[in-house]
Amino acid sequence: MAGLLALTLVAGACGSVAGGGPTADGPPDERLAFGDPDLEATAGERLGSEAAPAEATGDGSQDPDTTGGQGPPTTGGPIEPGTVDNPFVALPSVDEARAVLTSTGVVVPVIDQRPKSWLVATPCQNIAFVTDGQPIGRAHVVLDPGHGGAEYGAVGSTGITEKDLNLRVAMAAADILERAGATVVLARTGDYTITAASRGLIAKAVDPALLVSIHHNGGAPAGGEKPGTIVFTKTESPASTRFGGLLHQTLQPMLQGAAEPKRQRYREYADALESHEAAIAAYDRSVADRDAVLVANGQVPAEATTVPPTTVGPAPGEPRLPSVRQAITTTTAPPTTSAGGGAPVPVPEQPTPPPALAMAPVRPFTWAGSGNAGVRSWTRADGRDYLAVLRHSGDVPAVLAEFLYVTNPAEEELLADADFVAREAGVLADAIILFFTGQAGGTGHVADQFDDQPIGGSGGIDNCVEPEL
Ligand SMILES: [Zn+2]
Repeated sequence: MAGLLALTLVAGACGSVAGGGPTADGPPDERLAFGDPDLEATAGERLGSEAAPAEATGDGSQDPDTTGGQGPPTTGGPIEPGTVDNPFVALPSVDEARAVLTSTGVVVPVIDQRPKSWLVATPCQNIAFVTDGQPIGRAHVVLDPGHGGAEYGAVGSTGITEKDLNLRVAMAAADILERAGATVVLARTGDYTITAASRGLIAKAVDPALLVSIHHNGGAPAGGEKPGTIVFTKTESPASTRFGGLLHQTLQPMLQGAAEPKRQRYREYADALESHEAAIAAYDRSVADRDAVLVANGQVPAEATTVPPTTVGPAPGEPRLPSVRQAITTTTAPPTTSAGGGAPVPVPEQPTPPPALAMAPVRPFTWAGSGNAGVRSWTRADGRDYLAVLRHSGDVPAVLAEFLYVTNPAEEELLADADFVAREAGVLADAIILFFTGQAGGTGHVADQFDDQPIGGSGGIDNCVEPEL
């Protein structure tokens, strides 16, 4: 059991993948002080000790200003809860940019405001000067679509990538929340790499009431009747624990509802299969009865009737579906009327084999990772969050949600459906609205996790390629 637990926990953070490269939000690159409060001290220098290409800092790498900066924005107080009618209270107008949406659509946190430019941290933890862009003030929510660029995250058997799913869910949820009055910032806005620490820095810059890092899991841990959703909450953050429970509570009925039609389809298949089996069995009995008469009459030799029915089982590697039996005619010799001795018993008609089963096989619907599901924090030996995006987001209440397993074919089929992905985004938005409008704590909390496990290198600086800013 311990071995299984270790395996499933590894998978619990987007562990293994077929052909997709590193997938987990691994420990941060400890060479950097990027997540630490003294970040400002590094302004004017490279933030990373190892280089991305110089041009990756964008064309603003020369300081357009000759005067000194005004320093980074200050952190405001807590964002007040809203009401059911108005979940998101108005935020102060943007008098200073905490982050900037660049002209290429990338969100970058502002380190220092200059008269004619912003000094910003890039997605790969370099610094750059940005002169053109849309200033971003405080936000209610930061949504962080995990992975991006060459970091695919988990990849399904049909080629669905986690990075794409995460982004679609984030964008759709942001749309819903904005319609409800929220200011939402996406930590990743397109298909590019960005380190976990940079994601955290964006959150700290715009100082939301909530950061949600959106993921879909990889690997194939043992499954069952319960979705394998994991929501990692932030260590010793009651607000994040509360949101984790709300997300779990909101998500579970939607997931079970989405699985129900697939379960129903399997039940119909199982019923059809059972009827087919019964027809085969009846046929086999008819053949056997007829053979017995033929043998008793001496019309065929007994060895002519010994061919057994054929059973067609699942192919190697296929799920254990009920077997499909295929009827064959067992009697190879026609009855004759010249048998000797006594009056022959009338021979039954040659039975007709039933037609083959018309339905294509349907797999039983099974969630992956059922035993590893739940809402919990994951804390390292040093007391800090194990997952980098949580560790680097300061005091911002934050969760990393592993919604489903992309690598489980049953769940991949759900995730291939745009309507399902939209529902997932809707549920995320609903949970966020609940978080802003009440004090309920949700469901699904399990014992917190305290261990160190290798979960891959995604989110680190080494493989980060700067997008154009
Ligand atoms: Zn992931």
